[in-house]
Amino acid sequence: MKLRDLLCGPPLGVAFLLAAAPVAAAGLEAGAASRIVTPDLAKHAPIYLAGFGQNRPATGVHDDLFARCLALRAGGRPLVLCGVDSIGLFSDDTGRIRKAAVERLGQPADIVVAALHDHEAPDTLGLWGPSQAKSGISESYVAFLTAQTTDAIVEAVHNLAPAEAALASVRDARLDALIHDNRPPVVHDAEVIALRLRAKTGGAPIATLVNWANHPETLADRNTLITADNNASLYRTIERELGGIAVYLNGAVGGMQSSLGAHLREADGTPVPDRSFRKAEIVGHTVAMFAVQGLRRARWQEIDRISYRETQAKVPVANENFRMAAAAGLFRGRKQAMSDGVAEVPVAFVRLSAAGKPVLEAACIPGELYPELSVGGVQRYSGADFPNAPIEPPVKPRMKAPYRMLFGLANDEIGYIIPKAEWDNLAPWLQSSPKRWYGEVNSTGPETAPAVLDALFKLMN
Ligand SMILES: [Zn+2]
Repeated sequence: MKLRDLLCGPPLGVAFLLAAAPVAAAGLEAGAASRIVTPDLAKHAPIYLAGFGQNRPATGVHDDLFARCLALRAGGRPLVLCGVDSIGLFSDDTGRIRKAAVERLGQPADIVVAALHDHEAPDTLGLWGPSQAKSGISESYVAFLTAQTTDAIVEAVHNLAPAEAALASVRDARLDALIHDNRPPVVHDAEVIALRLRAKTGGAPIATLVNWANHPETLADRNTLITADNNASLYRTIERELGGIAVYLNGAVGGMQSSLGAHLREADGTPVPDRSFRKAEIVGHTVAMFAVQGLRRARWQEIDRISYRETQAKVPVANENFRMAAAAGLFRGRKQAMSDGVAEVPVAFVRLSAAGKPVLEAACIPGELYPELSVGGVQRYSGADFPNAPIEPPVKPRMKAPYRMLFGLANDEIGYIIPKAEWDNLAPWLQSSPKRWYGEVNSTGPETAPAVLDALFKLMN
């Protein structure tokens, strides 16, 4: 079937003609939409929870999972940014979503679908099935998630309407306190960056996009209820305080940014139980309130240009486990090239500008970047496998805009992206540790960071 046969809107030629016409006064438009992607535990059975050990079947639903999308346009093609409460989505699946959305829209669009790395959501990568040899992917669930996310993208674009934007970024020690880093160097990318959109006329709220970096895994490895973890309260607080639709995109969560080892207290000093829904609620609510407070102080501004560039980076897959997993069908046909030792991964760069000046930039990274590659701080330690490896320059200091986001697991999830100089797959271990550090086991290999960042920096220049 030809693409044209699938279109329900105007024929493609007309859409291209419209797009090619000169665009006058490219004012900002924004639209948003969300869909529930909670599995039906009967219909989509079996559902295995992802992210810790194998064989953790879901026994119920505590709160809903979502695909939440923000569409933006400034005269050109729409840019759609979606966060999905999922452990991770391979480019095979995000590619299907992006293609289906463009076909239904009947016009080109730049689309970023980023899983939020929720460790209390269904296994969509295949690594957490009933045993190490059996995939945990429920294809009927992935088909449902794909259809729902596509719907959210299409509706967000249909909702595009003239808008104005406000931006905020907040750093605070109380944000760092929500993150525990269990591998040296202790670096957090704990800044909250938020973008709020409201209708140009009348000021009705449209959406708020929040970007922060932490593993949503507060409920940990014994919970068997489906939940959006920290993100559930983040959505609730943002929408209660600001109206519109809350969209969250996770950041540089590698090396190892987690709430698990962060011990929190209630306002009256009472310790918050670890692995509890209360703790997840506090994490998400705290992040949301910093975004809200920052945005309440922000001024409304114009955005008149959006640029989006995407390329493919070729990553050698040195990790034998990943190659074997692909060959053994754990990914159920996805990431096939991994069995031959390569992965082609999407890397993208977004820039919003006003009057020729960058206002907001975002790097779209196809996995879990170590935060020292986002904000700086790569260290040379004794025991490193490549002691003389060049140190990759960090991403955010190379940006030009005052507001700098980084979207992790964007359009793909290939695991940890580790600075080559910190790569440590062979004893002796970094800093004379008696045991192996956690990270390399879930990374494609030591060449991933250089390959992904090289591709990104070419897009940024
Ligand atoms: Zn992770």
